[in-house]
Amino acid sequence: MVGASAAGLGTAEALRRKGYAGRLTVLGAEHRLPYDRPPLSKQVLSGAWEPERAGLRSRDALDALDAEFVLGDAAVSLDPAARTVRTAAGRTLGAEAVVLATGLRPRRLPGQGDLDGVHVLRTLDDAVALRGALGQARRVVVVGNGVLGAEVAATAAASGAHTSLVGLQPAPLAEQLGERVGGLVARLHARNGVRQYHGTGVEELVHEQARATGVRLPSGEVLPADVVVVAVGCTPATEWLVTSGLRLDDGVVCDARCRAADGVYAAGDAARWYHEGLGAHVRLENRTNATMQAGAVAANLLGGDVAYAPVPYFWTDQFDVKIQVFGTPRPGAEVALVEGDEEGGRFVAVYGGGRPHAVLGWNMAKQARQHSRALSTTGAAAA
Ligand SMILES: Cc1cc2nc3c(=O)[nH]c(=O)nc-3n(C[C@H](O)[C@H](O)[C@H](O)COP(=O)(O)OP(=O)(O)OC[C@H]3O[C@@H](n4cnc5c(N)ncnc54)[C@H](O)[C@@H]3O)c2cc1C
Repeated sequence: MVGASAAGLGTAEALRRKGYAGRLTVLGAEHRLPYDRPPLSKQVLSGAWEPERAGLRSRDALDALDAEFVLGDAAVSLDPAARTVRTAAGRTLGAEAVVLATGLRPRRLPGQGDLDGVHVLRTLDDAVALRGALGQARRVVVVGNGVLGAEVAATAAASGAHTSLVGLQPAPLAEQLGERVGGLVARLHARNGVRQYHGTGVEELVHEQARATGVRLPSGEVLPADVVVVAVGCTPATEWLVTSGLRLDDGVVCDARCRAADGVYAAGDAARWYHEGLGAHVRLENRTNATMQAGAVAANLLGGDVAYAPVPYFWTDQFDVKIQVFGTPRPGAEVALVEGDEEGGRFVAVYGGGRPHAVLGWNMAKQARQHSRALSTTGAAAA
C-alpha cells in the first residue's frame, strides 16, 4: 500500500479481515502513524481535540495488523510490470500487488509561495500550524467557499476571529449542495458573523515583505488579514507515477474493479475508476469512499470480482449543523423538503423530483439515511 492513511490502512485491514496472511507493507510519506483528516478542520482546529486524538488506530491495533509501516519516506516511482516501488530514501519495495492510495495535494494561489501567514489544510501538521496561527489572529480570510473553506471559516469564526469567506461559488457549497441549500449555508454563516464574498475570485495576496497582510478582490477591495487560509481544491498526488506508464487523468485511471494494471490497484481520493452505475469514470474525495473502496480493492486482490459502484456519501459540519449528503446533487435540480423545515433548523431534502438522485440531511442524519435507501446506485450516479 502506497499511502498510509484512510485508503491505504483500510486496504491492509480489509485484507486481514478477509483472511490474507501474507506480508503487508504500508509506505507513507509523512512521519506519522495513520490519522484521520475530517477532524482536522473541526475538532483539531478548534482545539477541542489534542492532535493525537485524530489517530486512526491505537498502537495495539496497528501491531495486531502485523503490517510493516515504512513512514517518512515518499514513493518516487513505480514499475507496474515488476510491481516495485522506489522511495526517496533509496528503498526498493517489491510486492505481488501494489495499491496506490496517495490522496491529494492542496492547490495554491499564484504568488502564495512561502508567504508567512498563508495556510493550507491537508495534513495534521497543517492543522497544528493553523490552530496556532488562529490563536493569535484577529482577522482571518478564507479563500475558497467549498466544503473545506466553509468548515474552516466556521471553526475560525466560532473561535472568535473576525472571519471572511471568499470564493467563486455563488453561495458556500453551492456546487456540492445546490444553490437553495447553499443559500441556507450562507445564512448560517452570516448569523454567526462570517463576512461573505461569493461569486468572486481573488486578485492577489497582499503582503508586506514576506508576510501576508490581506487579500485583494477583483473589485480592488482589500480584506485585511493576519491569517489567510487557501482552500481552493486539491489535485491527486500522482506526480510520482508519471514515469510508470499508468494512465493518469485527474487521478489514477482504473477499471470498474479499481484496477490500474495487472496487480496494481488504486483506492481513495487519488483513484478515478469506472463506476458502472454512472457509466463514467469518477473520483470521490470523501472519507467513507476511502474505506469502502479499500474494501473493494482488498476483495479483488484476493481473487474477487467486485465492481465498485457505491452511492456517493459525504458529511460536513458547519457551526452546529451537521449535513449528510447521499448521491450527488445536480445543478438546478428540483429540491423538496420531505421532513422537517428550514425554520426549525432540521430537515431532509430530496433532489430530483419524481426521480430522486440525491438526499440531504440538515441536522437529521437518521431520517436522511432512511430516505437515501430509495436511491439506486444508478440513479445516484446519474448525477
Ligand atoms: C481537513 C479535511 C477535512 C475533511 N473533512 C471531511 C468530512 O467532513 N467528510 C468527508 O467525507 N471527508 C472529509 N475529508 C476528506 C477525507 O479526509 C478524505 O477523503 C480521505 O482522507 C481520503 O483518504 P485517502 O487515504 O485516499 O487519502 P489521504 O487521506 O490524503 O492519504 C494519502 C496519504 O498518502 C501519503 N502520500 C502522498 N504521496 C505519497 C507518496 N509519494 N509516497 C507515500 N505516501 C504518500 C500522504 O502523506 C497521505 O498520508 C476531509 C479532508 C480534509 C483534508
